Amino acid sequence: MKELIIIGAGPAGMAASIYAMRAGLDTLVLEKISPGGQVMLTYEIENYPGFVEPVEGWQLASNMEQQARRLGVTIESKDVEQVRKVQDVFEIKTTDGSVLTARSVIAATGASLKRLGVPGESEFTGRGVSYCATCDAAFFKDMVTAVVGGGNTALEEALYLTRFASKVYLIHRRDEFRGQKILQDRVRSNPKIELVLDTVVTQVIGDEKVKAISLLNKKTNKTSELTVNGLFIFIGFSPNTAYLPKEVLNEAAQVKVDMHMRTPIGGLFAAGDLREGSYRQVLMAAADGATASISAYEYITNKEW
Ligand code: NAP
Repeated sequence: MKELIIIGAGPAGMAASIYAMRAGLDTLVLEKISPGGQVMLTYEIENYPGFVEPVEGWQLASNMEQQARRLGVTIESKDVEQVRKVQDVFEIKTTDGSVLTARSVIAATGASLKRLGVPGESEFTGRGVSYCATCDAAFFKDMVTAVVGGGNTALEEALYLTRFASKVYLIHRRDEFRGQKILQDRVRSNPKIELVLDTVVTQVIGDEKVKAISLLNKKTNKTSELTVNGLFIFIGFSPNTAYLPKEVLNEAAQVKVDMHMRTPIGGLFAAGDLREGSYRQVLMAAADGATASISAYEYITNKEW
């Protein structure tokens, strides 16, 4: 039995593991695919303190992993199916059929990208529809692309796409952006970006690959078709919490935590994008991880269990 199992090896899980190793907790990290989390999908980050120049997402993730491994952390590749507390012990069931046990658990599994849910979206995913400009933008050199969304992610990714695409339509369902002012200014002054506001995508059209998208202007109710080679969708995230007990989740399936990252179940903590009230920033995920780890240490050493 471990003292602490951390589920997820993104910035929250890695920061939690760094603090846990330094506190001397017998710790194991479980990760479904590979360490890094969503930061791997970000081209560069310029608001993480300590880096004078923007740092590439993969580099920041890799640094965090190397730092945790240097302190002796073990990261096992496992997909967690269920976490439950049986008396004072947490049972962590994984999809390969094993059951691991721990005195405390930090859930740090982040969030997954939302889909539009329009006809053609699934069919053309990987054939013109993408959820990662950092991964796919280079395929659209000198081509026409569209980005959907009005948050920081959509604005950042639209800017990134202009390095490759000849034109980027930024399609947003309202006429005001949710994203930061600095990004809005950069988007508005970029000659390759054309704003398509008050508009939603209703269909993705193509044969082998995407050829066009159908649009609906919500103010005028007019429909139109836009010829594009690629469609990048950045409309937010849903928390990855299906494996957690229902009693720790709110109506949006986010984990309920107090300021110490304690959930309503003693010994179960949450950190990062999956928790209620998260600002969804790398820095804050890391801070959550550190807080959760300190709380787990207090829980273990005070023998509340
Ligand atoms: P977000 O802030 O939740 O924005 C999602 C955007 O998609 C909104 O503009 C929303 O429109 C739109 N949207 C949602 N559902 C839609 C639908 N079905 N059809 C069309 N449009 C839809 O998501 P995000 O941009 O991915 O950002 C998530 C979090 O990460 C935010 O807290 C953000 O600040 C943070 N983040 C920060 C940075 C940074 O600091 N550099 C970078 C990336 C992300 P409405 O506005 O009308 O709701």
